[in-house]
Amino acid sequence: MNTASPTATPIKKSLPIAGQAPPVLDIDAELRAFEAEERARLGLDPTEQWVEEMANLTFTKSERSKITMLIGGLTLAHDYLVSGGLKSCGYDVVALDAPDYDSLRVGKEFGNRAQCNPTYFTVGNLVKVLIHLRDKKGLSTEEIIDRYVFLTAGACGPCRFGMYTTEYRKALRDAGFDGFRVMLFQQQGGLSQATGEASGLEMNPAFFINMLKGLVAGDIINGLGYRIRPYEVVPGATDEVIEQAKRICYDALLNKRSILAALMQTKRLFSQIQVDRTQPKPRTAIIGEFWAMTTEGDGNYRLQRFIEHEGAESDIQFVTAWLLYNIWEVAYDTQERKLLRQHDTAKLGMAGSNEYTALTRKLSLWAADKGLRTAFHVFAYAGGFYDYHLPEMDEIAEIAAPYYDNNLRGGEGHMEVGKLILNVVHNKASMTLSVKPFGCMPSSSVSDGVQSLITERYPGTIYCAVETSGDGAVNFQSRVQMYLFKAKKVAEAEFEKALSDHGLAVEQVRAFLNKNPRFANALHKPPRTTGSTPADLINEVAEYIKLSTAERTRLKAERAWQGASDWLRAAVTGAPTSAERTMKLGREFAAELAEIARDHGPELARKAAQKGLDQAMATVTNLPLAKQVQSFLGQNKLGQSKLRRAG
Ligand code: SF4
Repeated sequence: MNTASPTATPIKKSLPIAGQAPPVLDIDAELRAFEAEERARLGLDPTEQWVEEMANLTFTKSERSKITMLIGGLTLAHDYLVSGGLKSCGYDVVALDAPDYDSLRVGKEFGNRAQCNPTYFTVGNLVKVLIHLRDKKGLSTEEIIDRYVFLTAGACGPCRFGMYTTEYRKALRDAGFDGFRVMLFQQQGGLSQATGEASGLEMNPAFFINMLKGLVAGDIINGLGYRIRPYEVVPGATDEVIEQAKRICYDALLNKRSILAALMQTKRLFSQIQVDRTQPKPRTAIIGEFWAMTTEGDGNYRLQRFIEHEGAESDIQFVTAWLLYNIWEVAYDTQERKLLRQHDTAKLGMAGSNEYTALTRKLSLWAADKGLRTAFHVFAYAGGFYDYHLPEMDEIAEIAAPYYDNNLRGGEGHMEVGKLILNVVHNKASMTLSVKPFGCMPSSSVSDGVQSLITERYPGTIYCAVETSGDGAVNFQSRVQMYLFKAKKVAEAEFEKALSDHGLAVEQVRAFLNKNPRFANALHKPPRTTGSTPADLINEVAEYIKLSTAERTRLKAERAWQGASDWLRAAVTGAPTSAERTMKLGREFAAELAEIARDHGPELARKAAQKGLDQAMATVTNLPLAKQVQSFLGQNKLGQSKLRRAG
């Protein structure tokens, strides 16, 4: 609000009063005096505005050698591997532990009221570590502020995620760490406000590539862990291998060795874990708010482990899928706003752009999507995480759109809805569990509102929505148990049906697996035919038990033929397959190119032709050979006539 006093030159006015000599009354002065009086009474006098001095703090290049960067917020594997990748870029990095109940307590003590619990857990986790450094390790507050920074992701909303960094600063100040530097990936280096010196945090390609390697490798290790652990024969064997795998990949990242070679090494370790997949267990797809479904600590009451403990398999979401969703968001928004080239001054707005900007941005996002998918699959293959299909973002958006607008963001946006529908329609899991923090604005509206409609439209869906608040573990877990009971019954029925469909007894399957260790290997992934892995395995091995080699070969050929004709039919009839989407994308790009060509083609062609001609002339004229030929022809008439004849 503008609180400055009026400063315009006063205009004097006189009002005559009957029977008196007209007094001189300065109305403007009277009004100013009245306004000043009222301002003082209401406390509206100009005051100095408060400035957040902890915003945009960074460290300088000269400070870099003494700075320790703290990171955290994802799974233990991700944080650890990313710290290795960033260390190889020359930073001293420490990954924080998963937030626990102490983090929540500290977060609530120093944070604002009415935040969602990821804020309390993550903010509290940082403050807790700093308090530990001060009170247990004996560092002074000044030393901590001087030597440590926290690196995190920021956002501009639309939910409370947009306020995380403000919350960090508020809690740090109240906990006595005023001036502690919370840095965002988005800051992208720049200059130190205090000294004007270049920032010590250089977010160059090496920085992001190393981070990405850590994230994707973390996905693969987690994926293998959740796939294998529920079926391990020796309890704890998978966790032991996961620890070794993390160390191997960490060392590779730290010492700039091949991460793919490291993953191949870990593949051997995982493959040695003994598993028994002949016991029915439901597959539980975990979806929901990103942090709540990702964290492995008390923030979701260690949900993934709880599910395993209850005799089920956790099907987790990956950070790679989240990155793909982020790419999709930008591509979608670019398409929506591509014509707003005048007033759209937002960060990713189109103001000032030209007619090629939207097209080139979409092309680069398309390339980023494909590049990330390829990297994931290469890492997955190297690590032995076979047959995993990353979600198709366009497909999810398309499916969810009738129920949840694609423009609504925050949390997982429409993905939660799309994933539930796909899980049900394609029988991807026995049950879908959506976890979100208590009071989460976007995710609660999805699970409490929209998903009720989905479960009604798709009967038979086992969908469990649970909220985490940090202080209601018993309620949370008993609700999950209730739904898991139903899912277990479904998994048992699938298992029995698979056996009876093929006329098999479970002992026959076990005997076959003993003789054919390839199918009993921890890395083996049977093709998905039901919502649970053991039933999938029976459907896969039944053919080998019941059919001869010739019969199996014929069956495979029939399936291949069927698959090819299905693909062809889908592509021709325009079903929502990836072929169709690729063609749609191609059509879109072609239409835009045609539009640009129509508007600017003739002029561009003329300019390009002229430029090409000029360049060609300049190049040819400057060629030493051309000069020699010219001088030769100039000197040798015979040569000229021969050339003319040859021409
Ligand atoms: S998505 Fe929900 S839990 Fe996550 S930051 Fe936003 S409001 Fe909080």
